[in-house]
Amino acid sequence: MTEEIDVELTEKIKELCLKAGADKVGIADADKAVGSSQGHANPRDILPNARSIIVLASKIPDSAIECKHSDELIHANFVAVQQAMNMELVRIGYKLSRFLEKLGYDSIPIAPDIPREESRNIWVGTISHKYVAQLAGLGEIGLANLFLTPEWGPRVNLCCILTDAPLQPDGPKLVDKVCTKCNKCIEACPTRALTSNNYPPFNFNLNRCLWATLGFYRLTKVEEPPEDWIDAKPSANIVLPKYEEKYPQIRTFENWASRLGDFPQCIACMAACPIGKETHQKRIEGE
Ligand code: SF4
Ligand code: SF4
Repeated sequence: MTEEIDVELTEKIKELCLKAGADKVGIADADKAVGSSQGHANPRDILPNARSIIVLASKIPDSAIECKHSDELIHANFVAVQQAMNMELVRIGYKLSRFLEKLGYDSIPIAPDIPREESRNIWVGTISHKYVAQLAGLGEIGLANLFLTPEWGPRVNLCCILTDAPLQPDGPKLVDKVCTKCNKCIEACPTRALTSNNYPPFNFNLNRCLWATLGFYRLTKVEEPPEDWIDAKPSANIVLPKYEEKYPQIRTFENWASRLGDFPQCIACMAACPIGKETHQKRIEGE
């Protein structure tokens, strides 16, 4: 017999997460999370009896987004902040898992940014945290393919905790209610990786994005990625050596970045999104 939804436990868990440092918490129904996109795992491949997914959001400090990202060291600091935030989210997830385990439930936190998918050169997360956060009612995936909350736009990191506890789901309830389709992220994208004539994730060209996030756009001043780079399958990785050779400054950057920790070289879409930016502005102006 299926255990009835435990509203009291749901409230207790939310309180615990907020007290431990999460900025927002939502619950997704694990049944709805089996169809996540882009090659991510089905949560039930990880916890076969998963019934609920608790999603934590933490807010990236506004100044970390709006500081001078054209300076490598300042940008490296931003990445270090994000890595620390992810560790913090896992720490909260771990505490929550122990709490649930003591009540007799199975539970496992899913790290936000591992494993790294080398063939596509991106940090993917084992499951799609964005997709599940949407199911948990925390916000929606906007045109920039970033997860937006109504309060902070894309200025958030996410972490999921799988459990068989019977919790009350919160969503989805914000789909088509957060992203205003203002196209500012698309206009800000230096490599035209985003388009408005399709929906996420199909309006996003990973190879074009990699031209910026791997540093080529900024270090070579070449905005438009070459044709063979755009068309390369499974990813631009297969033509990477050719362009590393053509632009030696990239090798210097890669050596430097590998010592400091691998990091992307573009957050233009995130910085351009007015949601979150407006909240920050109002706070500065004391409204
Ligand atoms: S990270 Fe940069 S290149 Fe990639 S989609 Fe965003 S703005 Fe475009
Ligand atoms: S910049 Fe505009 S279109 Fe892009 S994600 Fe933000 S609200 Fe949506």
